[in-house]
Amino acid sequence: MVNIYHENDGNLSFLKDKTIAMIGYGNQGRAQALNLRDSGLNVIIGNRSDRFKQMAINDGFSTFSIEEAVNKSDITFLLIPDEIMNVVFETQIRPNLKSQSALVFASGYNIGFKLIKHPKDVDILLLAPRMIGVGVRENYLNKNGFFSFIAIEKDFSGNALEILLALAKAIGTLKKGAIELTFKQEAELDLFNEQGFGPAFGRVLLSAIYTLIDAGYPPEAVLVEMYMSNEMSYTYKKMADVGLIKQVDFHSQTSQYGAMSRGIKFRKLPVKPVMESILKNIQNGEFTKEWEKKMTKLKFKMIKFFATKQKINKLEKLVRKNLNLKIYDIYEEESPTKEELETLKDIEHEIKLFEQYYI
Ligand code: NDP
Repeated sequence: MVNIYHENDGNLSFLKDKTIAMIGYGNQGRAQALNLRDSGLNVIIGNRSDRFKQMAINDGFSTFSIEEAVNKSDITFLLIPDEIMNVVFETQIRPNLKSQSALVFASGYNIGFKLIKHPKDVDILLLAPRMIGVGVRENYLNKNGFFSFIAIEKDFSGNALEILLALAKAIGTLKKGAIELTFKQEAELDLFNEQGFGPAFGRVLLSAIYTLIDAGYPPEAVLVEMYMSNEMSYTYKKMADVGLIKQVDFHSQTSQYGAMSRGIKFRKLPVKPVMESILKNIQNGEFTKEWEKKMTKLKFKMIKFFATKQKINKLEKLVRKNLNLKIYDIYEEESPTKEELETLKDIEHEIKLFEQYYI
């Protein structure tokens, strides 16, 4: 049985007299810092001097350089983007980390895939909200709480679980529940949702859109029907609120019969084997190895260039204009330079496949 922790499992006295440094004041950093402070804890911010630092000052926090903040703290939260975390860790965090302190991550990625080799004399903790930053703040203020995944990689102090649960209580997650995993499991679940579920859902959505457009329905009506009305997002919310099956009660009898009787036609869609191979590729570290390669950043730029040329982007722009909705400037991705194309020569065939897929 997995361990799931609730409000009574956290005891804030384990954080008494501790200084907590938030490294990063972005989506998660700001929300978690405000929640911890409102729970009565002593929080300081470590950030480069720019608009994020200014935001922290405006919110009334004492701010320091990253090095200084780490040096002053008993508990350090690393709330910066995962892609640059290992470099920042080696240059600015590790040399300043106090022995017997605690290091807290909000994502299992860098520890789970061993991109950061953690020091042996600190507690290594994971407190990963299943919630965007604004939601972390809102659900703290309205006392609803939010789910999190937690993990302990290293229990140097002997009190790692007590410290982690106290922090979890203070950011507001125990009101809903914290599920204990390993760092690697957390990272794998996250990556699978992004790679196994996201694109499959996108493919199904686009297939539905073009089935209707090819049949002659006005694009404005099709996009409103399929996602722009927000009806689907309410359905998704209801799945979380009352259950996957119970939410069916919110739909008409005609809708229920239609969905249930026609659902059987999709039963042989070969989606699961593809998902299983994507999951395997995540678990064996192949994805991380690929993403960490310098060349992959260039490949990513190329894929993004093709993806932004998809016909749905043009169609959506037109529909948004006709519906008087704000148009966001995501449609023009810079074309690759000659030198970039030359660098990608060895994977020319693969790049061609992306071009054919998206355009
Ligand atoms: P953000 O992109 O919002 O982080 C921005 C912060 O990182 C800013 O303070 C920025 O400051 C700092 N930063 C960016 N680049 C650097 C750098 N090179 N050196 C030092 N500081 C830098 O990150 P998130 O809050 O989205 O993510 C933080 C962590 O939380 C990640 O591990 C993520 O996986 C995890 N997480 C995120 C969730 C989300 O909803 N976003 C949900 C759950 C977990 P500046 O640019 O001024 O240096």
